[in-house]
Order: sequence, then structure tokens, then C-alpha cells
Amino acid sequence: MRIDLHTHSACSDGTDAPAVLVAAAAAAGLDVMALTDHDTHDGIDEALAAGAGHGVRVVVGVEMSTDLGGESVHLLGYGHDPHDPRLAAELARVRAGRAERLPETCRLLAAAGAPVSVEDVMAQAVDTPSVGRPHVADALVAAGHVADRREAFDRYLAEGQPAFVPRYATPLGEAIDLIHGAGGAAVLAHPWGRGRRDALPPEVIAGLVADHGLDGIEVWHLDHDETTRAELLELATSLGLIPTGSSDHHGAGKVGHPLGAELTPPASLAALEAVFAR
Ligand code: AMP
Ligand code: FE
Ligand code: FE
Ligand code: ZN
Repeated sequence: MRIDLHTHSACSDGTDAPAVLVAAAAAAGLDVMALTDHDTHDGIDEALAAGAGHGVRVVVGVEMSTDLGGESVHLLGYGHDPHDPRLAAELARVRAGRAERLPETCRLLAAAGAPVSVEDVMAQAVDTPSVGRPHVADALVAAGHVADRREAFDRYLAEGQPAFVPRYATPLGEAIDLIHGAGGAAVLAHPWGRGRRDALPPEVIAGLVADHGLDGIEVWHLDHDETTRAELLELATSLGLIPTGSSDHHGAGKVGHPLGAELTPPASLAALEAVFAR
């Protein structure tokens, strides 16, 4: 069984429509995939329908933008009700914060010598209610200021660069509770990838288990090196957390993350199902 539990469609910052993504998953030999767009469920219905047509089991998912003491942490939800009113209201609040920062982002970009307008950015986000920095990056590419998304982040958009603007994100503990309240399982995305390690030391992860019943952590992710994976697997085992793996595929929006690049063991999917079937 080939199981990839973290992918993005054009309903957030991936580049493929959900049905195209699911067809690509079938072609990549996946049996199960989760659609985990950032802060939206807009692609779920289309993905579920395409999954039925292609013989791919699609798991309902979401990747929530959360905050832990001023640090950005991504939280995956699985198997929940995408129409849960409290979760839907909170995701809408996060999306509003995404849109509200754009004028300031564009002002800072102009000051940095790479002008694009809010309209230019929105022209790159036509299929999504969850506009993000990747869409700003696409606008910078379209304007000829940078060659690709990576250069846009490195020069302008990453934290510490001149056009970074913080935005509202759900407090992490509250996000775990919201996923559980909607009947789902909560898994930390790439917890120790890209310098995130200091924000989520083992004792903090243990606290999330004790206080909020965190269910799992991503172990097999391309942002984790071999040593990090071994340490995270040991941590998962010691805390009773479900270890998962995924490609974090974004279509053409992120190079080197092909579907199925990393996989979730069948036993981990079964353990997640035991949570969200409860
Ligand atoms: P935002 O959701 O607007 O805060 O933007 C964060 C998203 O940008 C992440 O979820 C990634 O998908 C993407 N991202 C972050 N860093 C990079 C990078 N260096 N190159 C391309 N995409 C990135
Ligand atoms: Fe993304
Ligand atoms: Fe993420
Ligand atoms: Zn992701």
C-alpha cells in the first residue's frame, strides 16, 4: 500500500486542480492520498469524486496555519468533518488574515524595488480562497523580478527578508482541539524541518500530547534529514504518537517534492483511522 498523506492543490498553493492532482496520484501508483490544502477545504469534494473515479482513496485533510509563542507551526487534520462550523469559522478567520496582509506586503516589495500590486497577486490566486506568499511569489515571477518561487522567498518573502509580513494564525493548542471537535486526528506537519526544531522541542511536543491529545507527527518528510527522522521516530514511539510520512507535493509550485516521494506506513494510517472513526 502506497499512502501519501500531505498534498496541496490549486485550492491553496499547489498548482494542480484537485482532480488533476488525484489523477497524478493514481499515475504515481498511490493507493491512498490526503488532500491537505492550507486553511481551506475547497478542493475536498472534487478530490473525493476524482478518487472514486481513479480508484484512489482520498482522505479528507487540511493543513492549518497555527501559532506557538510567535512561531509558525503547521498542523495537519485528518478524517474530520470539513463542514464543522467552529473549524470552518476559524479557517475563515485565518484566510482573512492572509488577505489583509497583502497591501503591506506589496508596499514593502515596492520599497525593495520589486513592485507588484495586490491585483497582480490576486490574479495568481484565482482558484483559491487561501492566498499566500507563494501567490505573491508567482506575481513576482510574472513581473520578471525573480526566476521562481524559491528566489522570491529567498530575496523578499521569507521571514527576515524585506517583504515578510506576519499574519494571524490559530493558537496551536486551540487548533488541535478544533480538529478533534470536528471528529479528526491532529498531526504536526514537518515538526523539525527548516529550522523549526527550536520552536518544538521534545518537551513541548510532550506537552501537546498531555494537554491536547496530539495524535501524531510527520517523520518521513523531505525537510527532515536521516538523523532527524530517527530522532522523531524515537520521540513518536516514546510518546505514543502516530508517525506519518508524505511528499508535501505542491505540483509545479515546489521542486523536488513528487507525489509518493515519502510514504506513511499502513499501520500508521490504521492508527489514524482508529482516531477519526471514534
Ligand atoms: P504563507 O502560507 O503565505 O505563510 O506561505 C507559506 C507557504 O509558502 C508554505 O506553506 C510553503 O508552501 C511555501 N514556502 C515556504 N518557503 C518556501 C520557499 N523557500 N520556496 C517555495 N515555497 C515556500
Ligand atoms: Fe504550501
Ligand atoms: Fe507545511
Ligand atoms: Zn504542506
